[in-house]
Amino acid sequence: MMLKNCRFIITQDDERTILENKDLKINEETKTIEEIGVELAKEPSEKIIDCSTHVVMPGLVNPHIHLFTFQLREHIVNSWNELWNKARELERNILKLRTSWNKALSLIATLGFTTIAPTEICYDKFQENINTFIEIIGGPFIFNKPDRMLGKIVHVSSILNIGPELFKELVDEAFKKNITVSIHISNTRNEVFEFKKKYGKFPIEYLDSIGALRENVTLIGLEWVTSWELKKIASNNCKVILIPSCSMLYALGGLPPIIEFIGEKITLGLGTCSFTCNSPFIFYEGKALLYYIRTSYWSFKLTAQQVLDIITLGNTRILNIKGGTITEGEPANLTIINLKHDNLAPVSMKNIVQNLILYSEPYNIEFTVVRGRLCSPRKNIFRKSF
Ligand SMILES: [Zn+2]
Repeated sequence: MMLKNCRFIITQDDERTILENKDLKINEETKTIEEIGVELAKEPSEKIIDCSTHVVMPGLVNPHIHLFTFQLREHIVNSWNELWNKARELERNILKLRTSWNKALSLIATLGFTTIAPTEICYDKFQENINTFIEIIGGPFIFNKPDRMLGKIVHVSSILNIGPELFKELVDEAFKKNITVSIHISNTRNEVFEFKKKYGKFPIEYLDSIGALRENVTLIGLEWVTSWELKKIASNNCKVILIPSCSMLYALGGLPPIIEFIGEKITLGLGTCSFTCNSPFIFYEGKALLYYIRTSYWSFKLTAQQVLDIITLGNTRILNIKGGTITEGEPANLTIINLKHDNLAPVSMKNIVQNLILYSEPYNIEFTVVRGRLCSPRKNIFRKSF
């Protein structure tokens, strides 16, 4: 398959090269990017996609999303705790959970993702139905205990639910199996001080003291992390997923020290968390991140390019998968955006990244390439029930 005459290719290579008017050839057998160049030779039966009005970028990855929360949108909640209580009610209602998964997947399918890591209560049932047009990398969602270890990620909802000692057991076991453990942590001030009252230390400080911060740990939220805990995150090579809409909507109050994370070279990713917070369109979340930091720090320290780096390079590193760049020989997971709509204009090589982060809309997404296969996500909306 050939993506012919791509208006732009955002490579996300070390120099952040953006190519203009190039062909991109995909080997559907090896599911990799075969060649990038000008006027590439085509096989007689090769499928040609005219991309002269399109930008091709590394496939969008969502490392933190709870599909089951879709149906929670029926409620109006007035606190973080109320949201958790509603989530626990939903956990016991299999019919509503199924509705949530189906509707969430229908929506997700239109948003240009090639890989998602959903963190769910029951996960395996829908995997085979969706895996053809979005690559699923994820594991079970755990409210109370690590009863299953599936996939590349196991998610823990809260350190107070599971307790630090059990969390350490989970991390150690997952480490042996090369599984990442993600956890919402230090979200509200109350939660942090409740933990400190019980264990005598702040959550990350305590986890470090018992050896539970290992490189397979990804920390989510971190609205109330302390400066000394930040150093422990860096020295233990833990990763961090930012969820700005969730932090803001649920009035969690604190701000993860994002600029300081970058200064410590901590791997950052961006997730969309609950469906109740925002649309899971990752560019909306990228824009939220940019506004969040510029408002909080009163500065332009974070750029649109850095946000794109977090979305592409950061999110693939978080999931420990290949991709995040467009390079010959790498897996062919791509997101293809049509520039014909005026919401992205005027567009040039200079402003394309900024315009995608600030102005793009889901209707700009025209194709994805998932494991070398072309998908039209806005046409093939997922409606099959399971
Ligand atoms: Zn979450």
